[in-house]
Amino acid sequence: MAEMGYDGNVGDPLPTPAVTNNPPEHTLVAEEWKHRPPYLIQSTQEFGEIKWRGSCQCQKISYSLKGKPIRATFSHARSTQIMHGAPVEWAALVHKSDISFDNGCNGLSFSSSSDLPASPSVSCESCHTPIMHEGKGSTCSIFPPLIKFKGSMDEQRSQRDLFKPNCHIFYAQRMMDIPDGITKWSDLDESSQRLDDYGNPIE
Ligand SMILES: [Zn+2]
Repeated sequence: MAEMGYDGNVGDPLPTPAVTNNPPEHTLVAEEWKHRPPYLIQSTQEFGEIKWRGSCQCQKISYSLKGKPIRATFSHARSTQIMHGAPVEWAALVHKSDISFDNGCNGLSFSSSSDLPASPSVSCESCHTPIMHEGKGSTCSIFPPLIKFKGSMDEQRSQRDLFKPNCHIFYAQRMMDIPDGITKWSDLDESSQRLDDYGNPIE
């Protein structure tokens, strides 16, 4: 039997594409994330009421936040200890649509972590302050110490309380015990072993 009968039309070479100044399609797809929150540059009216402002050490990176965090954690993952140069990472999960970087993705650098490979760590490319872990979906984890809480000490405390951690994660990797009575998980979340303040398993 003849293979795919050639009739003189089928199989003719495709026409050569016209020369154009537009970037190739794959470049547009690859760059599309830059035009979505939290990197979408928006006017104040577009973004809505700003509740808090955060910035890095050198001030080149700054962002607005308009929503309360979904939850917050203290993470004891080894990779985050190294990244922050600190025993514990304080992270608050927020909707990407609730955060807006003033200069979009400009000035940010991205690297992946071994514990959370789907969640690149974002830092300032000038002063290297860790800014957040970007989740793959609609949320990211920001670091509340970057937020400048305003008002009296009491007002600052009550705002900070909105970012208070619900649990400790990766507690099995801790550098120090934190006997604060907050729920502790050995690994990433509640699917791991629950531990007491001193790392003993709780049934
Ligand atoms: Zn900076």
